[in-house]
Amino acid sequence: MDTFNQVHKIRETLTRLKNDGKKTGFVPTMGALHEGHISLLKKSIRENDITVCSIFVNPIQFDREEDYSKYPVLPEKDLNILENTGCDIVFMPSAEEVYPEKPVLSFNFRHLDKILEGQFREGHFNGVGIVVSKLFNIIQPHRAYFGQKDIQQFKVIDCLIKDLSFNIDLRYGATVREEDGLAMSSRNLRLSDEERKQAPALYQMLLYTKNLITQEHNSPESIKKQAPDFLKKHPGFTLEYIEILDFKTFQPLESINIENKIVVCAAAYLGNVRLIDNIIIDGK
Ligand code: AMP
Repeated sequence: MDTFNQVHKIRETLTRLKNDGKKTGFVPTMGALHEGHISLLKKSIRENDITVCSIFVNPIQFDREEDYSKYPVLPEKDLNILENTGCDIVFMPSAEEVYPEKPVLSFNFRHLDKILEGQFREGHFNGVGIVVSKLFNIIQPHRAYFGQKDIQQFKVIDCLIKDLSFNIDLRYGATVREEDGLAMSSRNLRLSDEERKQAPALYQMLLYTKNLITQEHNSPESIKKQAPDFLKKHPGFTLEYIEILDFKTFQPLESINIENKIVVCAAAYLGNVRLIDNIIIDGK
């Protein structure tokens, strides 16, 4: 496994590999790797000749200084995991390497960055759009792998690839969960023991919501009233949003047609840690 910190060095190597006809899969991450990341890496390793993983905690996608400064950074552990998983190339640039100058450009993803994560984390998807565009231009992969865990981000990247004609095949990995249902996330490392015990309640709320939709045929309005009551029973949680959306268009729904594919997205604070999760309800 080769590790690069500099843009020009990784470009040299990847150009050589591309000229040799190698197909490249790319898994962008912010590090503190867990099974969710590993599942994306394994998918890429199966489907490509070369797998590149980037580890970069992107400062411009954070809206809260505390979230950025406390984001877990574990480079040695991560490199071990990557080596053991069979990753070929790691890109771990500094912030100065990625942003020699402050970006001037800004993205507008229309409704995609006005709702949910876009609404509650100002500038988040602009930061994601800029860093992912830069990484795509640096790595120039054939395929890129993103997780269902960040479903709205997936939709934003899909839009980015289509609008800017990136010649990249976007692939999707299902959310990997702990045994108790908690979606794996690097931020889970910041939970106290007591918070960690409460944390699966977010996924339980989504399962409860799924039941209200598929079995009880409740309206989105009624579900959005009941779900917060479910979470209130779990100390330490503050629900930020719950939304029911059409999977394809990612538009919030006012009424539900169970024949269509639906996604329920939620974000909540557990103490100071912000957790997000979602559940997909397949249409009939
Ligand atoms: P992050 O390091 O949190 O920026 O995540 C890097 C990639 O891993 C993103 O495409 C995420 O959607 C994906 N990811 C994060 N957590 C999970 C998970 N629990 N299951 C599957 N993919 C995940």
